[in-house]
Amino acid sequence: MMKKTILASCLILLFMHSYAQEYAILIKGGHVIDPKNQVDEVMDVAINEGKIVKVAKHIDAKARQVVDATGLYVTPGLIDIHAHHFFGTEPHSYLRNSYTAFPPDGFTFRTGVTTVVDAGSPGWRSFQKYKEQTIEHSKTRVLVFLNIIGEGMRGGPYEQNLADTDPKMAAMVAQQNKEDIVGFKVAHFEGHDWTIVDHAVEAGNMAGGIPVMVDFGGSNPPLPLDELLLKHLRKGDIFTHCFAQLKSREFIVDTLSKKVKPFILEARKQGRYFDVGYGGISFSFSQAIPAIKAGFYPDAISTDMHTGSMNGAMKDLLSVMSKFLVMGMDLQEVIAASTWQPAQMIKRPALGNLDVGSDADITILGLRKGDFGFYDYTGYKISGQEKLECEMTIRGGEIVYDLNGIANPVIVANRGEHH
Ligand SMILES: [Zn+2]
Repeated sequence: MMKKTILASCLILLFMHSYAQEYAILIKGGHVIDPKNQVDEVMDVAINEGKIVKVAKHIDAKARQVVDATGLYVTPGLIDIHAHHFFGTEPHSYLRNSYTAFPPDGFTFRTGVTTVVDAGSPGWRSFQKYKEQTIEHSKTRVLVFLNIIGEGMRGGPYEQNLADTDPKMAAMVAQQNKEDIVGFKVAHFEGHDWTIVDHAVEAGNMAGGIPVMVDFGGSNPPLPLDELLLKHLRKGDIFTHCFAQLKSREFIVDTLSKKVKPFILEARKQGRYFDVGYGGISFSFSQAIPAIKAGFYPDAISTDMHTGSMNGAMKDLLSVMSKFLVMGMDLQEVIAASTWQPAQMIKRPALGNLDVGSDADITILGLRKGDFGFYDYTGYKISGQEKLECEMTIRGGEIVYDLNGIANPVIVANRGEHH
C-alpha cells in the first residue's frame, strides 16, 4: 500500500512537472513598447531557447530567471545602423583594421544595443578580415554596409580613389555574404563627382536591390543635395548625417527661414530615408531643433560610433535618443527610430520587434528624472528632465547586461574568465 502511494505521488509529480510551463526568462510588469506590433502597455514577456515565446498581460509560470521590470520600459533590442567596429592593429589606417575602431561588445550591451550595422569600415577587399576579426568574435549581432571603396575606410587618399570602386566585385562579395551585408556605403568622398554614388547604386542593384547609405562627404563648392537625393539615389536609400551643418555640404534645414527644404520633404515622400549618424561633427542642434519642431523626424537614430565621437558630444545611442526626446519626439517615436524603422531600412524585418518566435533580443530601459545637459560639438547646450538608461540587455535569450541586478537569480552571461 505504502509503495503504491509513493509510486502514485511520483507519477503525479512527473505529470505536473511536464505540464507546468517553465520558461528560461520571464520579464514581469514592464511597459512594453513594440512599435511593429503597436504594443504600448504593461505586459509580461517570456523567453525560451533563445526565442520570444509569449507576450501577454499576465504570464504566471515558473522561470529559471524572473526579471522585475516594474517601472521600466521593455523594447526590442536596439539597432544602431551607423557604427564603426573594424578594430585591428594597423597604424595610419583610420577606421579599417585600426586602433581607432573598437570591438562592439564592450560598448553595445551597456547601452541596450543588440545589433550594429557597420557603416562602411570594410570594403570588398577587406571584408573577409572584418568577418574574421569582428563578426566572428562578437556576441553583438554585426551587420555591414560594405564600403564601395574596395579598401574600406583606410583614410586619406585611399578613400578618394575612384579607381578602387568596382560595383561588380562589391556586389559579388555582398551576395556571397548575404547574412552579413545589408547594403553599400559611400563615405568621405570629396570630389565634385557623382561616379562614386552611381557605382554604389549600381552595386546595390546588382546585389538584388539592397540599399545604399550616403555620407555626403564634402566638396568645394558643395554638390547639390537635391540632385543626390532625387536623381542619383533610389527609393530605400539612406542619407546619413542628416542633421549635419558643415560648410562643405548642403544641409536639410534652410538656416534663414529655419524650414526644412521642400526637396527634402519630396525626397522623403519618394522613399529616401534620413539617418542621424551623430558622429563627431555631424550633428548640430541648429539643424535638428527646427526639423523636429516641424515634425521632420529621423527614420533612424544612430551613433556613428568611433573613438572620436563617443568621448565628444555623442557618447552613446541612449544619449542621442535622449536628445531627441528632449527636442520633442515622444518615447514611442524614439524607440521606433531605434528598432523597427531601422530594421525595415536594412530589410531585416525579423529584427527590431517582439514577435513570438523571433530571436530574444530585448532591451529594458529606465527613464531617469533629473536635470540633464545635452550639447552638440559647437557648444550649443539644451537641458532636459529625462534621460534614458539601460537597465538590462538580452541578446539571443541570454542576459548580457544587468545594471542593478533586476533578474532573480542574478546570472549574467559573459562574465569573462578572469577573477
Ligand atoms: Zn560613419
